[in-house]
Amino acid sequence: MSLNERLSMLYRQIIMENSQKQTYRGLVDDFTHETTVYNPSCGDKLHLTIKLDDQKQIKKIAFEGQGCTISQASASLMCQLVQGKSEKDALKLSHLFSDLAMGKKHTKEEISQLEDAQVLTSIMEFPARIKCATLSWWGLDRALLGEDEEENND
Ligand code: ZN
Repeated sequence: MSLNERLSMLYRQIIMENSQKQTYRGLVDDFTHETTVYNPSCGDKLHLTIKLDDQKQIKKIAFEGQGCTISQASASLMCQLVQGKSEKDALKLSHLFSDLAMGKKHTKEEISQLEDAQVLTSIMEFPARIKCATLSWWGLDRALLGEDEEENND
């Protein structure tokens, strides 16, 4: 088995495991931000709920929904990565991820900020599945920015 084959098996395994993980599944009861996003080309659907505390830190994040393995794994990995981070850092990470999905080059150091979610970048080799991988990150962005009408309160 070549190194590349071994790597993609490892990625597949991490993606499979995360798609079945229950840790971030469900609803944050006292959420401050939410959104629902769809990927019609695959049928993926995610409902994201987020609770930001007074310091604008992500206290809790969870998702519900259905879809393919990649979209579910991506949502789980995204939640795992941003829980406990500030809103600002979370948005930075979602932009980094979208940039990578669009094929922009980044340094290894920047990419390493994605931690386990780095495995999702292996999906960028399969253009048909990129939307599955980016759906949850787009949702994160939209939940934090898109539907917040009080963003000028600071
Ligand atoms: Zn999908």
